[in-house]
This record gives sequence, C-alpha cells and structure tokens, in this order.
Amino acid sequence: MLRIDKNKKMSEEFELLPSPEAKENDFLKKFSERLDEASLEIPEIEKTRPIIERGMKLIDDEFGLSPELLDKPHSLYLMALAQRYGCIEETKNTDAYIVEKEFIFDATALVANKKSNLYEKYAKLIDPEPGAGEEERSFVYDKFTNIEATVELNEAINNGFLDDVKRQLGINADNEDPYELRVLNVGDVSVMRGLEPSDESEPKGVSYDDQVQKYIEYQNSLTNNGVQFKDELHSKGDIAAAWTTTINGVRTIILPLPVVVKLLHHNEKCNVDYTENDYSKDKAIFEHEYVHSQGHVDLDKDTFLGITGEELRAENFSGRKHGYGDVKDFDLLLQMISATDISSEMKSNEKGGTSEGLFKYLANKIGLQRALEFSLTPPNEYLDKEQAPLLFSINKHLGGLDGLVSRLYDDAVKAGRSEAIDYNFDFMAKLKIKSSSTKNDVSFFYSTMKNINKMPFGAELFRKKFEALGARY
Ligand SMILES: [Zn+2]
Repeated sequence: MLRIDKNKKMSEEFELLPSPEAKENDFLKKFSERLDEASLEIPEIEKTRPIIERGMKLIDDEFGLSPELLDKPHSLYLMALAQRYGCIEETKNTDAYIVEKEFIFDATALVANKKSNLYEKYAKLIDPEPGAGEEERSFVYDKFTNIEATVELNEAINNGFLDDVKRQLGINADNEDPYELRVLNVGDVSVMRGLEPSDESEPKGVSYDDQVQKYIEYQNSLTNNGVQFKDELHSKGDIAAAWTTTINGVRTIILPLPVVVKLLHHNEKCNVDYTENDYSKDKAIFEHEYVHSQGHVDLDKDTFLGITGEELRAENFSGRKHGYGDVKDFDLLLQMISATDISSEMKSNEKGGTSEGLFKYLANKIGLQRALEFSLTPPNEYLDKEQAPLLFSINKHLGGLDGLVSRLYDDAVKAGRSEAIDYNFDFMAKLKIKSSSTKNDVSFFYSTMKNINKMPFGAELFRKKFEALGARY
C-alpha cells in the first residue's frame, strides 16, 4: 500500500508507483545519459539529438527495449538507428518509407537480440538453427581434444611462438586476455595438404607404398573424426585450418592436429612441396585466430554485427596473408574516397581498439549513418540466407560493402572531394601499373576486385583510370 502524502506533488507520487511504463522509462532515461556522453565525442549526435530522441522513442514503443542493452557500443548503434528513423518520419506512407522502416526494424532486432520484447518474433530470423547447447558443446570438444598436442603447442607459445603478433598487438603479461587452446583430432584433405608422403623423403626400411598406405589410414581416421565432430555439434561446412569459439565462457582457439604438426614439425613431417611460404601462411592463420582471442571490435559474436572491422583487425595484425579480399578492398577504397584509414587507426590502439572506439572513429570521419552501415555489413562469406536470414535481408537493402562504397563516393563528391579522389585513383593506378610484371597483373587486380571480391563500384573507378593511362588489361 502506498501512503499518500498530501504535501507532495503528484509527480513525486508517480515516481513511487510501479507503472507498466517503468521499464520503458528506465530504458529511455539511460539512453538519454548515453546521449549526454556521446554528444561530447561525436558532434553529429549533439546536433541531431532531438531527431535521435524522437526516433528512439518510436523504436522503443515498438520493441520494449531493456536498459541492459545500453552498454556503450550498443548505444551507439541504437543512436544511429534512431537518427535514421527520426529522419524518415516526414516521408510517411511512401514506398521508400515502408522499405526503410522495415530495414531499421530488422537491424534493431539484430542489435537488441535477446534484450527486447520482440525477441521471440525475430529469433528464428536471427539464428534459424542454433547449434549444440553449452554443455553439449563442451562435451564434444573434450571428446576430440588431443591433450598431448595441446600441451606441446602451449609450450611453443610460452617459448615465443606467437611473440611477433603479441608485439604488434601490444600484448604483455599484464594485459593478455585469458584464452585457451585446443588441438583436435580432426582433419580433412585440405588441412592435411603438405603432409602427404613424397618419394624423396622415403626413410630407410619403409617403402613409399607403405608410407602412402599408412598416410591414407591416418587421413581417413582424422577425416572420419571431422565428420563426426561436425555432426555432433550440429554444424555444417568444412573443417577450417583454425577457428575461435567460446567453450564454458572462455575464448578458445581451435586447431586441427595436422595444422599443428605442420606448424611445429614442418622440417621433419612435411613433404618437399610444402614451402616456406606455405608455412608462413599456416602460421598467419593461427596468428589471425590469436588476434580474435585478444580484444575485439565487433559488437556481438552471435549476430555478426561489426564483424567486417573484426576480420580486418585480425588480418592486419597477422600479416594480411589470407582471405577477406572484399574487406581489404573496402579498406583501400575507404582511404582513397573518404580519407579514412581504419587500418592505421587500429595500429595506433592497444589490441587494435574497441568496438566503441572504432564506431566513434568512423562516425566522426564518415558520419553516423555510414558508420552504422559499415557495422551492419559483414564480409561476403558471412552472408548466408539460410543461416542468418535477418543479416542477409539487411544487406540486401544496403547492397553489401560495394553499396556502402558507392554511397561514400556520393558523400565525398557532395563534400567537394572529387579532385582528391581523382588524384588518389590516378596515383594508385599508376602504382599498380608500375609494379605489374605483366599486363595480366593489372587485369587480375581489376577482375579480382570486381568478380571475386564483388566490389564492382570501386573496380569501375580503377578501370576508368587504367584505360585513361593506356594500360592494357
Ligand atoms: Zn577471423
């Protein structure tokens, strides 16, 4: 029972009453505090605050968001979404409004994930086939763990195996995030490449045929284990050369046994076709995963938000020896078009920075909306209509990284950067031509960007320059 004090104003009384709107008010109140903080660091937020507040109120009316959602990076994503929603209000009832509103709601559902009243409605679109539960996962990983090899790899790390990447990230004994390692008794033809027996390495007393026979048995047993492992985890796809996951709440780097054999015993165990270059690429895969275990610039592991920045971070600190060609092209085009250098920004921060820091950097360089679009756009290989339908439909709307480049280009032209962009493309095109040993190199660069990395907008800007410079391709 509430005792009414006649001397108190009604508004003071209301604060004591647990009303159904209490949760909503808590959310908006905390959001307002986050706006106070962000306004100090991102002038655009200060300038557009009334629009953001209006948009957030409308979104929250629909979603019933939990105040728990409002850590700093999630808040920045929501501010950008709210600004976007606040801005389209005037265009109500047009087709464009309907499409844009659906996009904003889909993106909000992904950002909010479990912390909204609409979670149940979106759950199947966020993750249609959740994998094994925590306990089951831990059991499966235990079952396939090779303890001996895991101990050996840990010793190698203690003896300096990862010191290069640690130095680059600024890791020392005090700031290294806890992580675990697991070497698994799994494999497939691809991760075992380099271990096949070759004639030249025939040891005394063992015939080549015997070696091949033994190798096939070894390969089959690891491959069968790999199939069983994937099956028990309810996961699809090939066995990767390394990956990072969370087991019992601990970030854990996983390597299949054949990869560890190549890393630690390549002199004795690898065939003549396995080159120094192959070795440094295998090592870079491990280093890439180590980077994922130390800090992060993505928002959330389950939804893949911010993953483009996170993959770029992992590649930048591990020598850029592997995939994500689309992300690297984007990084280059962003520098050339928008004078924004994510890679240098990462290098200047311990562990490459934070998700909040990267979002702020981008918001101040390319604006809140482009920072949001970057954070909602994953690399191409993450786009899977079956496994992540909501992320997929958001990206259909945004046109992926290529769509983002085209909007950045329009922004830059409007801001009077045409001449600077032309200069940059001229400079880079000349550099590419100069460093090409054959004319095919230029053509390869162009067609990789266009067809493999699916960045036709940037590729077209290069093509025009190559043509103007008389390069044949
Ligand atoms: Zn990665």
